[in-house]
Amino acid sequence: MSRPAEQTPSTDAPLGDGAYPDSKVSHGGATYWLERSSDGAKRLVAVAADESAFSDFTGSTETVDGEVRLVAPVTAENALALRSALPWLTPTRFGLHTSAGFGDRLGLATPGHVRALNAVGGAINPVFAQQSIREMGRCGRTPRNVLDDATWGAFQAGWTKPVGGDADHLEELDDIDATVAAGFVFYTLDPKAHVDPEAEHADPTAVRAKVEALDWASMDTDLESFTKSYVGHRIDLDQEAIELDEESVLRAMAKYGPSMSHAMALYRRLMAKGIDCEVEFAVDETDHPTKPAEHVVVVSELKRLGMEFISFAPRFVGRFEKGVEHIGDIDELRRDFEIHAEIARALGPYKLSLHSGSDKYSVYPLIAEATKGMVHLKTAGTSWAEALRVIAHNDPDLMRDALTLALESFEANRKSYHLSCDPSRIPAQPTDDEVAHLMDVVDSRQVLHVGYGAILEEFGTRMYEVWNDHEDEHYEIIADHFIKHLKPFAPWAS
Ligand SMILES: [Zn+2]
Repeated sequence: MSRPAEQTPSTDAPLGDGAYPDSKVSHGGATYWLERSSDGAKRLVAVAADESAFSDFTGSTETVDGEVRLVAPVTAENALALRSALPWLTPTRFGLHTSAGFGDRLGLATPGHVRALNAVGGAINPVFAQQSIREMGRCGRTPRNVLDDATWGAFQAGWTKPVGGDADHLEELDDIDATVAAGFVFYTLDPKAHVDPEAEHADPTAVRAKVEALDWASMDTDLESFTKSYVGHRIDLDQEAIELDEESVLRAMAKYGPSMSHAMALYRRLMAKGIDCEVEFAVDETDHPTKPAEHVVVVSELKRLGMEFISFAPRFVGRFEKGVEHIGDIDELRRDFEIHAEIARALGPYKLSLHSGSDKYSVYPLIAEATKGMVHLKTAGTSWAEALRVIAHNDPDLMRDALTLALESFEANRKSYHLSCDPSRIPAQPTDDEVAHLMDVVDSRQVLHVGYGAILEEFGTRMYEVWNDHEDEHYEIIADHFIKHLKPFAPWAS
């Protein structure tokens, strides 16, 4: 990214015990760092020549050797003040630049993500603050919690380049209000509830009936004009052309038409806020792959209706399940990436967004190359899965309890997630050795991956103690895991 952090060299302000040395940064006449006190609580410390530098913060100040020293708790109010004092911590738009989202359900993983980015190098732009409304609900977090935890984590780890902020999978109008109020800059609009899966296999008469029943007036057109503008047309791409025949055009509209109306309602609600932001249109969590002709019709119609978006998340071929490798024919997937990327360049350009992007190591080089780096990688939940390794390693009994609960509550937890695990293959009373490998086996990894809501509600307090007591081990595990995700993108990143 072009915006360099306006960072001046640190002063030699002495760091106290428990300080995070990487966090120390000087800007605007003050030097800031994060400390951890003996009781485990984190606090912001800063020094400046006079008190006016700290007027936005709430905390205690004292004057030592002619310098004013601030000690402030890590509250929401102080996170906001810190974003204002250190402007690179305020989420910003990334445009078409290569970017990656690090969904962090716990609000603890950002320093590990920073380590991975530093190790990989290159120009991948991070979205540390990213969580779907569904996940926030299950984790008992607010949009503001998500943003603030990412702020503290990036600060702690000494990140001084731009950050994004993704209000992920917004489905309802209220979701827009809640996330705008928190300060997100990237809005993922997800109208999946309005995508019609029946249109995939319906016979032509049924497809036509669905299309005729659409609310055309609300889309500022009518069926005849719509048909004329697509049927018989041909979209020339780098390598090939897409012929738009009547059957595929009508099926595209039957399948996605209602979802476009809903997405436009979300979009208009967002635009009415008048904020500086960018938008993703996502239909990844739907049953049937987005065919090339459907991509063309959907994107062209959204543009005609006035939506500007920076990325599009189609439903790609094969299965993108939580926390495991892509399931399906990898050559077919490569082909799918190539054609969707060609369409995105021809009709946009806009980025392709790869959702459920965690743990799919075979896939990253393919999409990085197909898109030539014009891509957003979105992971959600794999940081949580990896954090469980810290629990398994340091408190096997707690991990066994978590597994028991995840198995008991599995039918409720699995709702709205794509999974193929078989809980009956998981040992009910695993040995310590089996506990150590629960996150390596698909069945237990997926059951625990989606069990986060129930597990955190019951065992969250004990687990956070373990993570806080083994902070560095946690960051190392997260960093190792994400280096494998990010590396294939680095050569293409711009
Ligand atoms: Zn998604």
